[in-house]
Amino acid sequence: MLPHPGMNGAAPPTFQSLERKLGRAASRAISDFSMIDDGDRLLVAVSGGKDSYTMLHLLRALQRKAPVRFELRVVNVDQGHPGYPAHVLREYMQREGHDFTMIEEDTYSIVTEKIPAGKTYCSLCSRLRRGILYRVARELGCNKIALGHHREDVLATLFLNLLFAGQLAAMPPKLVTDDGSLVVVRPLVYCAEEDIRAFAELAAFPILPCDLCGSQDQLQRKAVGRMLDQIERDRPGSKTVILAALQNVHPSHLLDRRLWGALDLRVARDSQGGGSLADEVIPAQHIVRD
Ligand code: SF4
Repeated sequence: MLPHPGMNGAAPPTFQSLERKLGRAASRAISDFSMIDDGDRLLVAVSGGKDSYTMLHLLRALQRKAPVRFELRVVNVDQGHPGYPAHVLREYMQREGHDFTMIEEDTYSIVTEKIPAGKTYCSLCSRLRRGILYRVARELGCNKIALGHHREDVLATLFLNLLFAGQLAAMPPKLVTDDGSLVVVRPLVYCAEEDIRAFAELAAFPILPCDLCGSQDQLQRKAVGRMLDQIERDRPGSKTVILAALQNVHPSHLLDRRLWGALDLRVARDSQGGGSLADEVIPAQHIVRD
């Protein structure tokens, strides 16, 4: 675990300071990508982990003060993992007064039957869960689904795609389903995992164990996570910089012809003259020809 700012001599963060910090980051992401509109009904997918509890907390706080009106329908999928403590979530949601639905679908049996021993379950398991969430969202009249992926998920996906898939792609903050009927949003994409972890501890969310499925670790994702943590230890602030890079892309300095075509780029300018990188791209209409 990386040291939290509070461990470096500074005053440890409080519940309120983390709530403000995470709330600001989530609000910025929601605003940057127009994630929530007036009249939206969001299905908030909760797993019982720190990320989704935190997302739910922040969305509810935002709901109270936002100028737009939106509804939250909280949904958990009980996938039939042996020993799943469904009552913990039920009791929490009841205590907090959330509009909560628990869906019981035994995907665990399907996954363990279809995936050979020794292989990881996660790909099929999460695909089945996603399908259930899409179906339930439609049944509940929701037009959007909120997922709790955070900054580290975005960065790990970026490096997984880079190192193992030969793609320069992270995780979309907002995407639409194939049939156009649902929009998936990720309000926590700017939130640092260490802040979420510290906040979840201070909030004393009743975290559900995450090893009930018996799945092997996602080795590549874990390895990339460790690599990112090491980079952060060597150069503190690196994760922030990499996230900033994802918001500051220079298409002319990538080698994707489709991108050049889509943006109607014809040439990139040599920046040796001191021009800012942002000025380097010359849209075709600005090129003076002989
Ligand atoms: S960790 Fe377990 S519950 Fe989560 S996606 Fe993988 S198999 Fe499914």
